Amino acid sequence: MTVEQQRLLRTAIPGPASLALHERKQKAVSAGVSTGLPVYIERAAGGILVDVDGNQLIDFGAGIAVTSVGNSATRVVEAVQRQVADFTHTCFMVTPYAEYVEVCEQLAELTPGEHEKRSALFNSGAEAVENAIKVARHATGRDAVVAFDHAYHGRTNLTMALTAKSMPYKAGFGPFAGEVYRVPMAYPYRWPTGPESCADEAFATFTTQVHTQVGEENTAAVILEPIQGEGGFIVPAPGFVKRVADWCHEHGILFIADEIQTGFCRTGDWFASEHEGVVPDLITTAKGIAGGLPLAGLTGRAELMDAVHAGGLGGTYGGNPVACAAGLAAIETMKELDLAGRAREIEAIFRPRLEALAAKYDQVGDIRGRGAMLAIELVAGADDTTPNAALTAAVNRACHQEGLVTLTCGTFGNVIRFLPPLVAGDGLLSEGLDILDEAFGTATA
Ligand SMILES: *Cc1c(COP(=O)(O)O)cnc(C)c1O
Repeated sequence: MTVEQQRLLRTAIPGPASLALHERKQKAVSAGVSTGLPVYIERAAGGILVDVDGNQLIDFGAGIAVTSVGNSATRVVEAVQRQVADFTHTCFMVTPYAEYVEVCEQLAELTPGEHEKRSALFNSGAEAVENAIKVARHATGRDAVVAFDHAYHGRTNLTMALTAKSMPYKAGFGPFAGEVYRVPMAYPYRWPTGPESCADEAFATFTTQVHTQVGEENTAAVILEPIQGEGGFIVPAPGFVKRVADWCHEHGILFIADEIQTGFCRTGDWFASEHEGVVPDLITTAKGIAGGLPLAGLTGRAELMDAVHAGGLGGTYGGNPVACAAGLAAIETMKELDLAGRAREIEAIFRPRLEALAAKYDQVGDIRGRGAMLAIELVAGADDTTPNAALTAAVNRACHQEGLVTLTCGTFGNVIRFLPPLVAGDGLLSEGLDILDEAFGTATA
């Protein structure tokens, strides 16, 4: 790798060069675009980010589950360089190219289900979700879409409507797209009657609400993240996802899995739907698909995707050849290095350490996730599950100061999530977990 896989602190975090850039940022970049940790990155590889002060930080965020194959992954770099030299853009809707077709072939092969599939490519996750709704409405002739509490599906107008959390994603940005309905998520840790009754009760509420408030015959689709991302790494109660998908099928409602964060090996399989034993009608992908280049996909049953009239889907840049070349290289890397298997190894490294942390600190209320998509939910104490956003922020800050890039999430801002690049070595992961442990000591002192 081009960057030594080692943490190294030369200055305080952030250092002087980062602080100077940050001052320029405040004068040039909209305040609406905020940064979690204002260290400015100059180079990165594997599990290390190098900032402009020469500090080397351990990366437990992967740019929000994007650089699963690592930053500047060799195959991705070579493929991008080749493609940039060959040609950068024609617009697939004007004069097409093989790379787009090859990415769609890979999506057909790798996504759940053996049925005939078609895909379309876009620039961002939100755009893929928007297009999933377009296809679902067109194919069913129905308007309504059902989304869940704690859901995150993006920041465009329609995807803001699907997203649950107001601050910061929606506040002041309405009115939102219509015909979007929200139902409870089977969130075991916070289910009022306890985790055992969670799946049954959440499913009953879901079916009742869709029946009485929307009408099955009006519902085009139900969209669900098989593990909720921004909402707090909520793993739905066992069996819930399957029951929802089966029920949708019975009523001619399309089941859309938003696998933008969970997809491409992150949860220990190619897609998280596989753990739930469901085959989505439509599946959205982005983030981990292309080693950091902007690429997103919508893949679905051929008869749904082909129901749309010619010219109904697309976009100037969607499936850009450079992004597609990166996607193909990233997929090849995932196969060659068995990164799904590596995600399971990462879980085996993290789980016992997070359990030890929970044994030591009553404020660790829940440990959850799958593969290399893991999180801890912080609460007031052993018998008080009041969300503890203050401690979450303090631990996060203490990690940052020691050169560990961590991310928070959750409807209540009280979840620390771990999304390391899948190629990060055991030594770095273990050192990062040591820093997390020390950060708890600092934050609770
Ligand atoms: C990040 C994310 C999106 C939005 O993707 P963008 O590329 O940021 O538009 C949608 N759904 C889920 C589950 C995500 O994690």
